[in-house]
Order: sequence, then structure tokens, then C-alpha cells
Amino acid sequence: MIVAMVEPSNTQAHETQGAAQDIDWGDFRDHLATADRQGNRRWVYPKKPGGPWHRRRVWFATFLIAVMFAGPWIRVEGNPLLLLNIVERRFSILGQIFWPQDFVIFAVAMLVFITGIIIFTTAFGRLWCGWACPQTVMMEMVFRKIDYLIEGDAHEQRALDASPWNMRKVLKKTGKQGIFLGLSFIVGNTLLAYIIGSEQLLAIQFDDPRKHMTGLSFMVLFTLLFYAIFARFREQACTFICPYGRFQSAMLDENSMVVAYDHHRGEKRGPLVRRQTPGQRQSAGLGDCVACRQCVAVCPTGIDIRDGTQMECVNCTACIDVCDGIMDKVGRPRGLIRFASLNNIERGEPQRFTARMKLYAGFLGALIALFLFLVFTRAEIGTTLLRAPGSLFQRTRGGNIQNLYTMKVINKTSRELLVELQLQNIAGSVRLMGSGPFKVPKESLAQTSVLVELDPSVLSGNSTKLTLGVYSDGKLLETVTTGFVGPRR
Ligand code: SF4
Ligand code: SF4
Repeated sequence: MIVAMVEPSNTQAHETQGAAQDIDWGDFRDHLATADRQGNRRWVYPKKPGGPWHRRRVWFATFLIAVMFAGPWIRVEGNPLLLLNIVERRFSILGQIFWPQDFVIFAVAMLVFITGIIIFTTAFGRLWCGWACPQTVMMEMVFRKIDYLIEGDAHEQRALDASPWNMRKVLKKTGKQGIFLGLSFIVGNTLLAYIIGSEQLLAIQFDDPRKHMTGLSFMVLFTLLFYAIFARFREQACTFICPYGRFQSAMLDENSMVVAYDHHRGEKRGPLVRRQTPGQRQSAGLGDCVACRQCVAVCPTGIDIRDGTQMECVNCTACIDVCDGIMDKVGRPRGLIRFASLNNIERGEPQRFTARMKLYAGFLGALIALFLFLVFTRAEIGTTLLRAPGSLFQRTRGGNIQNLYTMKVINKTSRELLVELQLQNIAGSVRLMGSGPFKVPKESLAQTSVLVELDPSVLSGNSTKLTLGVYSDGKLLETVTTGFVGPRR
């Protein structure tokens, strides 16, 4: 009699096939694991994960979640750790304020990020997705845990969904959705704080709501968006919305380390027969895979890793843990599913640092060097000096020539600056209009008019190039150039 030592999962409909139909090599690429052949959504009920890899993920996710929620409230030299204020075009990364004028630095930072992801993916597959992506971290480590806590493991969730509505079901479902909505509100507010800053967020929360209608609208919008993602879309957000999973195939090669099934060891798969020795199993042409489908049952994206690397796989390692447990039970070595490259599975080759990785790493190193150079040589202020619109020149009673300018100064520092101007290349006088010294508040932009007066004898033609030094506390912060218009000679 043939007996499966490990209970086949009673979970998904497609899992109820017998071992003979278990091998379906060609079909899996024709439709998504989370949709039926008509394209209707097939809800995934992943079995509760557990094991050494999962424990590592829990620790890592706890750290990431703590950083993610604390991020908007952490200050570095008085500035937010991370602020991406697209509305006011103000950005803070690790406490460094960036303005639109720092676009080049920001663009290089983006290139560093993208190149880093490409290298990381080339070497380690989609480790980012399963371990560090905020969507997966929140979904698998928070929302999914609430599923298990309130509704139980996969088979209990399925039974509850299939059962008729009664008080117990209503309480469980409304309680869970209420918690999901509350958590989505917190996640939405955190995202808002990263965009507008924590002070603005508190103002929206505690001020007169009529003053913050736009902010409140976004608060509601983000809450509903995250609720939709975590309560309904779930793994489909990774499959349909996130582009990363789609272009990963262009980055992976045969040396990329991914969660992989060792088909040489596993095939031909078949249930374990009681009292059958490994030798007898081998003689029967069977491999180590006992076709228990636990790797499918535990997969949060509903795929069968034995079909090979797939777009939906987020490298969460749940299938490694469960399969290692099965191997322990059937007395076979662990690692039938493991982190491995194609070359490792096919030829037993160790992980290699390939020429492609070296090329990417060199490019990344150059970009990081450029980024650091730009950051450390960045001026503390950004000054633009333009001739006042519509003005030409004026002649004073003493015969000197005056030009009027408009000056805008961006203070990128976290302290107020008293700004002065001095002519650098020519003798003359510079006057900043307004009462008292020209002050530029911290992390702000200020504007004033500037009157430059020159003796006609120093002018070269009707347009003379001026170089002006922008000073604060006697320190030259920046040099700007402009033109000075005089009478024709
Ligand atoms: S790969 Fe492992 S977990 Fe998956 S069916 Fe085979 S033995 Fe079971
Ligand atoms: S195949 Fe394995 S690693 Fe990939 S998503 Fe499913 S459980 Fe996670």
C-alpha cells in the first residue's frame, strides 16, 4: 500500500490533485497561480510559516518596521532622517536637506539606488522583495499574522470563509477588518509624514480640520489605498503593480542566487512508501521529493517552486523551511529547496562573482564616489542674481551708473544666515535693499533687491561682467556672476 508519510495539504483546489497529476510542467506559465483559467481571483491561504529562516525574517522585519515607523520622528541635526516633500520640492536624506537646485545630487542618489538594486538582484535574486520590501514586510509580518491570530491557520481560514454567516463569523470578520483599517491608517499616516514631515502631520491631526482639507483628503486616500492593498490586493500588488518582479528576469543569470528546487535530487517526485528504504526508492527511480506539496501550501504567492524560478516568487524562504522540515521527517538531507544558483543546482558550482557583477559593482563604486563628492562639495546656499525685469540702468547725480537686481538665496543649512554681497572683480558698491541686514531663515528661501553702483570708467562696453561673492559671517559661501548694463560708448 502506498502511504504519504506527510499529509498532503488540504488547502488549495489545485493542491488536491494526486501525485500522478502533481507534475504539470507546461501549464504553470499559462496562467497566474492566483487566478483560475477564466482569470478569476483565487484567494491564497498560505499555511502558517515557521522554521529557522522564518525566525530570521521575523527579527529582521521587526527591526525594519521599528525604523520605518520611527523614521519620520527621528531628527539628524534638527532635520528629518528622511523627507520626500514632493509638493514643496524639499528633500531630506539622513538629515541633509536637498533642494530642487540639488537635482543632480538627487539624480545620482537615485542612480546609486537603482544600480545597487540591479547588482543585488544579479547576485541574490529577489531577496529585497521577501526580506526588506515594505509591502512584503507589512503584509507577511503584520497583516498575515493578524489573519492567523484571529482566523487560525490556512485550513481554518478556508473553513470560515466557506461557512454560513453567523455571529462568530461576523465578529471575526468585522474585528479583523477593523484592525486592518486601523493599521492602514497608521501606515498611511507614516507615508504622509515621510512626504510632508511629522510637524505638518500633527498639525493636520490636531488643528482645525477646515485648515487642512487637502492633507485630510490625502490621509483618507492613503488609508483606503493601504487597506485595499493589505486586505484585498495582497500578493497581487507584487505581481501586477510592482515592476521589479517583471524586470528581474533581465537581471538574473545562471549565477544568481535564488530560492530554488534541486530537481536533480527531487525528481522523480512521488509519495513515500512505508518501510521503503532510500535505496529501494532510488531503484524505483524516485527522488527526494515526496510530493507532499507543503512548499506550495506555505507559499504566500501561491506558486509551486518545483516549476522553477517564477516572477511571483519573492524569495521569502517559507518553502525552504517547510521542505527542510519534511526532509528531517523522512530522513533525507535538508536543502532540497535552498538558496542556490542555477549553476549550483546543475553543476554543483559555488556562488561566483561574475564579470557582469564586477562591471555593475565598478559602476556602482564610481556612482557612490561621485555622489559623495557632490554631497561634500555642495554649497551651503544657492544664489540666483538676475537683473530686475524691465530695468535698464540709472545715472546718479554724481555720474555713477546703477543697476537693479533681484536676488534669491536658498539657505540649505539648519541655521539662520545673515547674507552680504561683495564685488569681486571690479571696484564699486553693492547695497541690499530693505531695512536691516538680509536674513535667510534656516532651510528656506529669501528674496531681496540689490543695487550695484559703478563708476563709468570701470565699465567695459555697454555690458560688463560682474562677479560677486556671497558672504555670511565674513565667510565666502558662493560666487555668482551677472551682467551690468551701462550706456553705449
Ligand atoms: S519539494 Fe519538499 S515540500 Fe515540496 S513537495 Fe517536495 S518534499 Fe514536499
Ligand atoms: S516559492 Fe518559496 S520563496 Fe518563493 S514566494 Fe513561494 S514560499 Fe516564498
